[in-house]
Amino acid sequence: MKIWLDGGLKDIESARVSVFDHGLTVGDGIFETVKAVDGRPFALTRHLDRLTRSARGLGLPDPDLDEVRRACAAVLEANPMPLGRLRLTYTGGHGPLGSDRGEHGPTLVVALGGTTRRPDSTAVITVPWTRNERGALTGLKTTSYAENVVALARAREQGASEALFGNTVGQLCEGTGSNVFVVLDGELHTPPLASGCLAGITRALVVEWAGAKETDLPLDVLERAEEVFLTSTLRDVQAVHRVDERELPGAPGPVTAKAMRIFDERAGADLDP
Ligand code: PLP
Repeated sequence: MKIWLDGGLKDIESARVSVFDHGLTVGDGIFETVKAVDGRPFALTRHLDRLTRSARGLGLPDPDLDEVRRACAAVLEANPMPLGRLRLTYTGGHGPLGSDRGEHGPTLVVALGGTTRRPDSTAVITVPWTRNERGALTGLKTTSYAENVVALARAREQGASEALFGNTVGQLCEGTGSNVFVVLDGELHTPPLASGCLAGITRALVVEWAGAKETDLPLDVLERAEEVFLTSTLRDVQAVHRVDERELPGAPGPVTAKAMRIFDERAGADLDP
């Protein structure tokens, strides 16, 4: 396996970052997960836009997008696989211990892992912890993901594959690594970005292609929604067949099935929509 580090390809065994890299010591970093189909990245331009937005939000220098594109192409070429997940990590770099920014410029790592197509439907739980819709990191894809790790572990313990958060004012927000959509009276809704959710790229495509409305939704909408589904780079559109104790028999329901179909058709036709 070859990864990109310090401006070039390296064998994974010899690639080294400092133990004082602030991405490691204080979570001062950002990332993107990009799907790659037959060695070609999906929606790369949107991912690079979000990488830049996240960098600016964190006060990191803008990433050199030409280098990032070259890195993605080189890593994909060096590690052929039918369905892959590129992982772009960009940190504040290394420096003295403490919470200041690293002193030696940012670190860029581009790695690739394999992945498989997810099942058509899954179970989710809700967790009692809240997303802060007004935090300094809200909406940024930072490497400070420990809260998501804890919530996902709770979901796994309960036989689910995702945990959904509400925000501090009791509205539905998002999952640990996905956005959420619900069907109410036959209409498709998803929480607005002001709920504190990440501006998911799959979410944006589904809003655009399937005509979903961005609506403030109370968390208990999950007790009455006719259908629920998740979106993310690795799930695409995935129906939900259980939320906590509530079963949603027949998932994917008609609205979800239509969104899945539209997404598969459009995403398959254009790798950089
Ligand atoms: N919300 C969070 C917290 C995420 O980490 C992710 C993706 O990893 C998403 C939503 C979905 O975003 P995307 O569709 O861009 O993968």
